[in-house]
Amino acid sequence: MQQKRKKRQNRRNLLRTFAGLFSMLLILGASYLAFRSMSEDEKAVSSSSSNSQEKENSAVSAQGDIQKWAEIKTYTEEDIHGGALILVNQKFPCKESSGLEMLSIYNYKNSSYMVSDKNTALRKPAILALNDMLEDFEKAEGPNDILVCSGYRTFDYQETLLSREEEEKGAQEASTWVATPGYSEHHTGYALDFNLLHEDGTSDSYTGTGIYQWVNDHAPEYGYIVRYESEKAEFTGIQYEPWHFRYVGVPHSLIMEKNNFCLEEYIQYLRDYPADGEHLFFEYGGKEYEIYYVKGPEVPIGEADSYLVSGDNVDGFIVTLEREIQA
Ligand SMILES: [Zn+2]
Repeated sequence: MQQKRKKRQNRRNLLRTFAGLFSMLLILGASYLAFRSMSEDEKAVSSSSSNSQEKENSAVSAQGDIQKWAEIKTYTEEDIHGGALILVNQKFPCKESSGLEMLSIYNYKNSSYMVSDKNTALRKPAILALNDMLEDFEKAEGPNDILVCSGYRTFDYQETLLSREEEEKGAQEASTWVATPGYSEHHTGYALDFNLLHEDGTSDSYTGTGIYQWVNDHAPEYGYIVRYESEKAEFTGIQYEPWHFRYVGVPHSLIMEKNNFCLEEYIQYLRDYPADGEHLFFEYGGKEYEIYYVKGPEVPIGEADSYLVSGDNVDGFIVTLEREIQA
């Protein structure tokens, strides 16, 4: 009899424990749901505020919400010196990259421009963007005389160019026109020079005037910048060169244009957007871009449809996340 009561009591205790556990689960579940819907609401608020008038007026905007990383990639010290955003000037030399793939423009070009010879080479993204830009230029302004006269240069070839210029203009003057070997953007494979080759065989310097103004005005839409503007010589150390174009890629070319930044200023500006702080947001062509700077070597990558990591050739990396904007 006593044992029976004890058994019953045990069973009751067990039931009470189960009930307790069950109600605890219920409470936990309910509060989880409440938390979830709250953060969903917050998300809605933050995304609607990002579509505010302010954002429409200025495509460049900074947002505070840091997302969870999709992955962490590890890069090497060497990787800092590669990519379409590397800054190469008298302060930051280019690391000679013999292993990089340089493609003959002649083999990849379309019919909307000329190239001086089969050895004139660039990195692939630069050629593809060049094709798009000059095809659209031809559609807009008709036939033209653009000749790509210089692309990728080895350190040796730069030496030849410099001594030729020194003979002509003297060492002092030459140094403001032709960079010392190792310090030319042409070593990157992302820079090119235009010349004009007329039908009668004569040629002219490319000045970006007349019908060619179109190219200098529209270049940023294709990822290109006019690298050496006259009013930026104090930063670049190079005089006005309307014929020298540098590929940095969209959206960077557009953000630079909008803020009137040369590459020196832009690379500095991006340091205000570290991975663990506010990121830089920019919308263009139905896409949202999110940009931030990381010192590395561990580079966190946020959720995105695609991403690109470039060294800055100074001390770190610039991450560009790309997302389709849902209609
Ligand atoms: Zn050049």
